[in-house]
Amino acid sequence: MTATTSTSRYCVAAMDPSVAADVRATLVAPDYDHPAYVEIAGDPAPCRVCLGRFEPGQESRILFTYDPFRVVEPELPLPGPIFIHEDECTPYAPSDGFPESLTHGPLTFNAYADDRRLVAAPRTAVEDRDAVEHTIALLLADPEIRYIHVRSTRAGCFLCQVERAQGA
Ligand SMILES: [Zn+2]
Repeated sequence: MTATTSTSRYCVAAMDPSVAADVRATLVAPDYDHPAYVEIAGDPAPCRVCLGRFEPGQESRILFTYDPFRVVEPELPLPGPIFIHEDECTPYAPSDGFPESLTHGPLTFNAYADDRRLVAAPRTAVEDRDAVEHTIALLLADPEIRYIHVRSTRAGCFLCQVERAQGA
């Protein structure tokens, strides 16, 4: 019930499709020049471009080093491992609200102010749709917070960025 009212106030930024296209073409990580690794998915982790989950044993994915701050705070990198589909996939639409595919396990919401300053998050393991919407609304109500990084609580990996919608 809360989802419909809050989706218009924030947007979900998945990986820039042009960055993914470069990695698919070169099999080299952006910024770091580390080789990217191609494998058949062994688990249903999410692709950071379409935010859909891999079909284990079926879909091929690319693992590489990625800095989720590369655009917003390029001088304060914090890289980590991520996966994308090996083949081109449909980028997640920012206005589609929080992806259902990410709401099946505990999530960590790290909210940042300028200079990559981590603002204390109200909850560290968000487990369901209502809690996701509540947490995003609470964090974005703080004008100091510029954006939120969503991570898997168990794996620690970066999943996507949540920010205020234009005009919100
Ligand atoms: Zn994908």
